Amino acid sequence: ASFLTMNLSRPILKSITSLGFNKPTPIQAATIPVALLGKDIVGNAVTGSGKTAAFIIPMLERLLYRERGTKAAATRCLVLVPTRELGVQCFEVGSKLAAHTDIRFALVVGGLSLKSQEVTLRTRPDVVIATPGRLIDHLRNSPSFTLDTLDILVLDEADRMLSDGFADELTEIIKSCPMSRQTMLFSATMTDSVDELVKMSLNKPVRLFV
Ligand code: AMP
Repeated sequence: ASFLTMNLSRPILKSITSLGFNKPTPIQAATIPVALLGKDIVGNAVTGSGKTAAFIIPMLERLLYRERGTKAAATRCLVLVPTRELGVQCFEVGSKLAAHTDIRFALVVGGLSLKSQEVTLRTRPDVVIATPGRLIDHLRNSPSFTLDTLDILVLDEADRMLSDGFADELTEIIKSCPMSRQTMLFSATMTDSVDELVKMSLNKPVRLFV
């Protein structure tokens, strides 16, 4: 497999090269073409497999494509992660992959000031990377912050988010997202509660086990 045969745009290919990614990892080779078609995905992937870039690359491509049609600032992608550390990692990979685009990322995790995050969210960043607890704080307390314009939802390390006790938060967030969206869910393990989450939040998902 090669990144060159995936129909990716120049700014993204340039960042992939600068990051030193020579060829896609198995999860990237499986996920990117399906995600570019806009399909819902369930992926069985652990940290270290390259799963972050597997969902960020098609997300950026879809944002770039979409931006040709509309210029209004809007939050179009939400990535939910179980921990602050994973959020920081995802934010860093995303920012590097988007380096040659004008796509804007925001990191919304605990331990950072709520007030400054609120100011950032008011600028309608294209991609929000968040932990469920902190995102709920903003959904409940900032009237101007909504998920109405969301095109893509990613649930990363879903098993961990559920075992960390975020099930109710996840349900509330998913109910705040438009029905007509693409959803990608990644999980190291496929438990009954992950299956329930898949049934609740995904539409005819393609299952990728690599
Ligand atoms: P992740 O599983 O997303 O946490 O990624 C694990 C590590 O693999 C990160 O440091 C990435 O920068 C790196 N990585 C991701 N994709 C590739 C690739 N195609 N080639 C080489 N390294 C990669």
